[in-house]
Amino acid sequence: MIEEAAKLLARSRFAIAFTGAGISAESGVPTFRGFNGLWKKHRPEELATPEAFRRDPRLVWEFYKWRMDLIRKAKPNRAHYALAELEEMGILKAVITQNVDDLHREAGTRNLIELHGNIFRVRCTSCGYGEYLKESGRLEEFLREKDLPRCPDCGSLLRPDVVWFGEPLPRSALDEAFRLAERADLVLVIGTSGVVYPAAYVPQIVKETGGKVIEINPEESGITPIADVFLRCPAGEAMEKLMTRVKGLIG
Ligand code: NAD
Ligand code: ZN
Repeated sequence: MIEEAAKLLARSRFAIAFTGAGISAESGVPTFRGFNGLWKKHRPEELATPEAFRRDPRLVWEFYKWRMDLIRKAKPNRAHYALAELEEMGILKAVITQNVDDLHREAGTRNLIELHGNIFRVRCTSCGYGEYLKESGRLEEFLREKDLPRCPDCGSLLRPDVVWFGEPLPRSALDEAFRLAERADLVLVIGTSGVVYPAAYVPQIVKETGGKVIEINPEESGITPIADVFLRCPAGEAMEKLMTRVKGLIG
């Protein structure tokens, strides 16, 4: 199976990757299922919604600050680095991710499409203000602050710049993802349950336009039925083996 996947990848002309929470599991970032019970017995689905934020912004901000703190201590793993290396080698053209954890960027991926936002970005609930806390150097201060975060321009509440359940995806990121999917002759799908739409259309578009689908996941997912090669394995281990074979093939 690894050999087959390596051949497809080495032969491809325009490969992309589509990733979900599972690629970050080995970095210690829990998948949504893993979050259950981890934080005050709330399910993420009850906290990551516009309704929850309207009802109780303090609770939602407490949850997000807890996650930001957890995620900022996480490091990219072998799978994130392998994708950055495949891009460097000219094989991979883009990574489309549903993750908000910034680990692809940390690993060095350059052409990154974030479909569900980024947990280190905040934006104003009223005006156009936005801030990337890693870049502005305010992350520590932001996490320490006990009051609700306010917009420096207009004083309204700030919110995490992530896509909540029931919200539309950022139009430009989604358009770019679909454009890439139409062009791609191969998609490497890693660690996603493939049931969150419209993101899950990405591998389907690749398949429908004649491209190959390689999936890496220790469990079957919504993508498995359309996978040409299914590597039933954790992401880090699978990507390490795959990289060794790809390098062997292209010499
Ligand atoms: P999901 O939780 O629905 O599915 C995770 C998938 O990863 C599962 O299919 C699971 O079998 C697989 N998996 C578990 N461990 C793995 C490993 N070591 N290697 C490879 N695969 C592994 O996550 P999803 O499909 O990304 O969709 C849920 C939503 O949750 C997304 O929209 C995302 O924004 C959000 N989310 C993001 C993060 C993050 O940024 N790291 C974490 C949790 C949830
Ligand atoms: Zn504002």
